[in-house]
Amino acid sequence: MPQRTLHTDTLFNPLTKGVENGVSIVVDEDTGSVVKLFGRSEPLPAVLPEGDVDLRGKFVMPGFVDAHTHIFLHSYDENPSLNQKRDESFTERVIRAVNHCRVGLLAGYTTYRDLGSESMKEADCNVRDAINRGLIPGPRLFVATRVIASTGSYESRTENRIGGTCLPNGSDPADGADEIRKAVRRRIAHGADIVKFYADYRRRIMRYPPRQQHPYVGSVLHPPAQPNPDVLCYSQEEMDALVAEARLADCPVACHAGTKQGVIMAAKAGSLTIEHAYFADDDVFAAMKENGCIFVPTLAVCERLHVQRFPEISAQVKRAWDLGVKLACGGDTGTYPHGENAREMELMIEAGIPVVDVLAAGTVGGWKSCGGDQCGKRFGWLEEGLSADIIALDADPRQEKNALRMVSFVMKDAKIWKKEGAAIGMA
Ligand SMILES: [Zn+2]
Repeated sequence: MPQRTLHTDTLFNPLTKGVENGVSIVVDEDTGSVVKLFGRSEPLPAVLPEGDVDLRGKFVMPGFVDAHTHIFLHSYDENPSLNQKRDESFTERVIRAVNHCRVGLLAGYTTYRDLGSESMKEADCNVRDAINRGLIPGPRLFVATRVIASTGSYESRTENRIGGTCLPNGSDPADGADEIRKAVRRRIAHGADIVKFYADYRRRIMRYPPRQQHPYVGSVLHPPAQPNPDVLCYSQEEMDALVAEARLADCPVACHAGTKQGVIMAAKAGSLTIEHAYFADDDVFAAMKENGCIFVPTLAVCERLHVQRFPEISAQVKRAWDLGVKLACGGDTGTYPHGENAREMELMIEAGIPVVDVLAAGTVGGWKSCGGDQCGKRFGWLEEGLSADIIALDADPRQEKNALRMVSFVMKDAKIWKKEGAAIGMA
């Protein structure tokens, strides 16, 4: 049966941030799209037509978009001494990604913006394609492949090895405008949907071995106050060249930036999104606003890795919202467990942002962070012709704190993956 009808009585619209009552939605599995939405004028019969889905009594909304994920990472907390890039095989990491994609989808996440394959080269493209071809269940992936960073910045430490790196490189190193333009072309040729670059990073990571990138402060005797401070990776000219080159290919850009200066430079260059910005003030947010950037605060990873500063970081995110900065929800999922993606939205709500604004940031905001129409599809709200990504929560998140974890129904591209709380179609 290509078409089916879903009946709702509380349907959230991220565009108006309000709910609509008594709406039914016709979807088509052949096209994966919404055929139409209509307000019911008559009560429904006691027995619904075969194939119809009864979502009355639930809080129904478009599928969640996680705007910052890593499908090849699993929680750093599981084994802090494990370096996933070094200690896990390519195959193991692919198998883990398959599992991560399944649990992410079952948690209501119908789209992932996956920002860096973390030493898995372009395997994120292959997972994306496997999902799109129906081989495995998972969110719709928009991937960055390898991130672009300057030489020696987002790389593994090398000082203890002669002739070669200890670990597979996670980045595609490029320096100077010409090399950077070439790197952008290479990323797009290799299948990237989004170009991600590093405006700054902890480039002195190698000063305090044996600790690697995580946790941030190595356990050494008498370390300076900031053993590994974030410092710039690129000049303004280099960032400008990167964004301009991506624009030639109509490809959105995401920027990792921790420092104020890094954010301001990336915003000026025209990066669509700014990731993290855990040192931010009004000048930083003004730069984001002026340049139309979307801010992806990644509170969920900050909660774990920046414990002491977390209250301040949380307050900054609320300040960004107060000032009218556009937001998307992405937790850096993978550094904490896939399936718990909703932690990011919960933390944004705890920061003081109204629930309905967080729901909008977690749906249509996520679509915009994928480049909006640049990504080739429309999702994140429900309208005729859009992707039929629909989820149902067993409680209203405006009233119930845990509602975002109570996802009992998941439909992506008009195909049902979860019903009455149980996975289906995954045999
Ligand atoms: Zn990340």
